[in-house]
Amino acid sequence: MAKTNKRGYWWECDKCKGTVRFNKREFGSLLWGLAKGGWEKQSLLERRCENCKQDESLHITHHFPPSKESIRVIRIVGIYKERRDFLPMMWEAIVSGKQRFDFKYIKGNKTKTLASPAVLTEEELVSVFKTYRVVAERPGFLAALIQGQ
Ligand SMILES: [Zn+2]
Repeated sequence: MAKTNKRGYWWECDKCKGTVRFNKREFGSLLWGLAKGGWEKQSLLERRCENCKQDESLHITHHFPPSKESIRVIRIVGIYKERRDFLPMMWEAIVSGKQRFDFKYIKGNKTKTLASPAVLTEEELVSVFKTYRVVAERPGFLAALIQGQ
């Protein structure tokens, strides 16, 4: 995948590689909206590219810090609790053609917290993995490690 010198997050087209700036406030709202919807509306992570007129071809993109490779976000799940302004998440992404998982959190609408890793308990990890199984329709995800459901 192409290396760029962009900072932060942006929308990037899978087809034409066109980019669209991300509005930071919009990003926080999108993540909280996804959480409040039980992580079901993963389509929020895809948009139509107005450059090449392809539906669902824009994806949230950012850099993999050590190599500055682009990371294309394909799914986000996490642990939402009402009246808590802290949202730990697992982001599924494609880096150099391979699927990767990244743990992040947002506090309030402050997207700068996304640069720090989420720290989860064993119970929270299992909860995130179980949510991922449902949302990604991958019932066998880590099945050897997680019992039940
Ligand atoms: Zn495009």
